Amino acid sequence: MRNHFDESQRLALSRRGFLGVAGLTLAGAWAPASGARRRRRSEDPVFSWAELRPGLFVSVSQRLGGNVVASKSERGGFVIDASFAGVGPALHAEATDRVGSVTHLVNTHHHGDHTGGNVAFGAGVVRIAHENAAPRIAESRDRYLDQLRGTMRQFGNERGEVNPAIQAGVESLLAREAELKADDWRPAVLVCREHFKNPLEGEVTFHRFGPGHTDNDLLVMLDRHDVLHAGDLCFHGLHPFFDPPGGASARGWVASIIKARELCGEKTVVIPGHGPVGDRAILDAQRVYLEALIEHVTREIRAGKTRDEVVQMSWPFMDGLGFPQARPRALGAAYDELVGEVGHP
Ligand SMILES: [Zn+2]
Repeated sequence: MRNHFDESQRLALSRRGFLGVAGLTLAGAWAPASGARRRRRSEDPVFSWAELRPGLFVSVSQRLGGNVVASKSERGGFVIDASFAGVGPALHAEATDRVGSVTHLVNTHHHGDHTGGNVAFGAGVVRIAHENAAPRIAESRDRYLDQLRGTMRQFGNERGEVNPAIQAGVESLLAREAELKADDWRPAVLVCREHFKNPLEGEVTFHRFGPGHTDNDLLVMLDRHDVLHAGDLCFHGLHPFFDPPGGASARGWVASIIKARELCGEKTVVIPGHGPVGDRAILDAQRVYLEALIEHVTREIRAGKTRDEVVQMSWPFMDGLGFPQARPRALGAAYDELVGEVGHP
């Protein structure tokens, strides 16, 4: 299990390198005090919040892991996805500033760039995830602690400086490292479990359509706002990340995306797990990618290509997408899944 978790973290780190090369501005990044650039103050937000609807905030940032939502509601403030452990305290503070006391936290799936920050929300918060996510999160304590210890490397600038809000939060968590238990991350309310009662009833509806990106993907519909958080079932403008040990399935992913699309009307706003916010067209784009992946890899297997050959391939539907490190991984995962259907060459 170690591999997939570490790999998702490593790829998240290397996205930063990719964006640096592309010369893009990293919202929420720590900027050094040089030239005309002012030193960021501790009160500057770490996350890049936009108010999507009144009382509903979203932060999209390649560097900060999965896209995060904070929303006011009749049942208290809630947050969807918790980013990495090292920025969890900053996320908790910034979400509280915007939506008031955070009473509920939802994880769209178990990956460490969506769950590492769970610990920062404290024992009083109601943590909600799919039932398959719970054991995967619970067994990841050591990796979350590794995230905490690696915070300066991950979020610091070239001089090793990090946003003071991040630093203060990490120091306070590491000061009680020995006390931190798996339960400090583990969800308590498990969607799909028998007798599941939705604590955010009237605000949020959870959907799960089988294995796709992982075996525990939750689609989170914010009913009052007509906004869907699709989690990592949707990568917008990026190659999708495949995690076979975490239950990924290209065919299952297509089926889930088709169902997710049916939840959306013309005006539904769709928040992907990674990449900019869009509408239902970004789900269509994800489906097109996955169907093309299945079609092309199947054809190459039939033509007798080996796995090593297939993972080096690329086709026009893959052109121009970010997160290029995920491409060979997607090809390899699709090969492994489809070779059983097609038969070995
Ligand atoms: Zn993921």
